[in-house]
Amino acid sequence: MLYDAVLLDRDGTLIEDVPYNGDPEKVRPVPGARAALDRLRAAGLRLAVVTNQSGLARGYFTGAQMRAVHARVEELLGRFDAWLVCPHDDADGCACRKPAPGLVHAAARELGTTASRCVLVGDIGRDVAAALAAGAAGVLVPTPVTRPEEIAAAGWVATDLPAAVAEILRRQQAVQPAVPPAEPVRTALVVRSDSAGDVLVTGPAIRAVAAGAQRVVLLCGPRGRAAADLLPGVDEIIEHPLPWIDPTPGPVDPGAIRGLTARLAAVGADQAVVFTSFHQSALPLALLLRMAEIDRIAAISDDYPGALLDIRHRVPVGVPEPERALSLAAAAGHRLPDGDEPVLRLRRDAVPPRPANLGDPGYVVLHPGSAASSRACPPELATRIAGALTRAGHRVLVTGGADERAVTARVAAAGGIDLGGRTDLAGLAAIVADASAVVVGNTGPAHLAAAAGVPVVSLFAPTVPFGQWGPYRVPTVRLGDSTAPCRDTRAASCPVPGHPCLSDVDPDEVVDALRTFAVSGGGGR
Ligand SMILES: [Zn+2]
Repeated sequence: MLYDAVLLDRDGTLIEDVPYNGDPEKVRPVPGARAALDRLRAAGLRLAVVTNQSGLARGYFTGAQMRAVHARVEELLGRFDAWLVCPHDDADGCACRKPAPGLVHAAARELGTTASRCVLVGDIGRDVAAALAAGAAGVLVPTPVTRPEEIAAAGWVATDLPAAVAEILRRQQAVQPAVPPAEPVRTALVVRSDSAGDVLVTGPAIRAVAAGAQRVVLLCGPRGRAAADLLPGVDEIIEHPLPWIDPTPGPVDPGAIRGLTARLAAVGADQAVVFTSFHQSALPLALLLRMAEIDRIAAISDDYPGALLDIRHRVPVGVPEPERALSLAAAAGHRLPDGDEPVLRLRRDAVPPRPANLGDPGYVVLHPGSAASSRACPPELATRIAGALTRAGHRVLVTGGADERAVTARVAAAGGIDLGGRTDLAGLAAIVADASAVVVGNTGPAHLAAAAGVPVVSLFAPTVPFGQWGPYRVPTVRLGDSTAPCRDTRAASCPVPGHPCLSDVDPDEVVDALRTFAVSGGGGR
């Protein structure tokens, strides 16, 4: 299951917002709140309220008045398993006032779980930011006072509290198979083409398939091969480009396609699960798998699949890619075994030891590049970030591929060690694993950080939805303009002069984000 607990903001989310209310008589639940909360309780989810009440610090009401309000809330909405209140004001600089993650961590502790197994529902950007900074999921339920940019920045938006609850329960259910596979699976063929990041986010689903099959063969493309080598649960890899998936495909070579079909037939798979992104079609490959006489094929397809799929799965937009893939694995009869958290994970034996000459763990990794330039951090900004981090006392390692050396050298010159071109993906994973945080665009190393549980400052260009592609189940601060004109264009190179969605980020925001993660300039965490 994805979640143990649902954390709820109070004012504007559970009850109507009456500023600085100390009067129980003024408590009015939002429409449908009681029934929605009872659905969560019936599903076995624990409930906590996480609320900023700066009125305490300002003396607008007393602790006793607040407790009377909370008693009234429970009278109307039923019991909550925990109440977490920040009594401070912004000026106090505490670690609990949202958007700081302190209340979320405290709630998770009090409920006997971890933040990544919690989902928080709130009505403003501060709520969502607190959830993400703790590694929890965050659902925004806007009210008339929610600002448009807060709605644009949120990865998960619901129209009202009952709709938020329905989607939480739907996602929770979607990763559980309704029925196990009709027959045991000896060899499963799983497919994920495209880049390293695509392959990494499919990892949890591949582990789920591996838990239900004796052998797993992964078909991936050349750009995803290095990531495929890092995934637990994979017994064999077939590397082959798929010209209907690749962003810059070569021509379709009939001989190569015939060769691939023969190779797929030789796998002898008794089940195939074809993973794709929401804009990719599984159907051309499904046809090859039929030609290879594989007779149990599962894929997500909005397009009519005719006789090509045995399990045609549908997923609404906005679901995180790892969960989207897990839900397909579930539709094919597979789930993660007990004790295997639905997080990204790498094979321990595939990640080499970290070079000793990089000093102690606790540095910050700054990765300016990306295979898609629209999703990269502009070099000029990365240079200023390197300077700001160094001035704040952080040790900075600047990483990048061999083709990004010019940029990493320029960035590192402003503060940091240049590791451009010095690592392959596995070597980068080793370096990331010992970082206190990673500063990166929407690209593969963000997912390496997620796999290592290392907090991410995500310079996220809105070309694709943050809710689908943001770092998964790891503490994250999202920076950048999510309303920029490149939004949802899926552009590989920025269609707007000046790359404004990221170039306006202030380097001090990155320094502040590290403080949110309690990553100090001394290198500790
Ligand atoms: Zn506080």
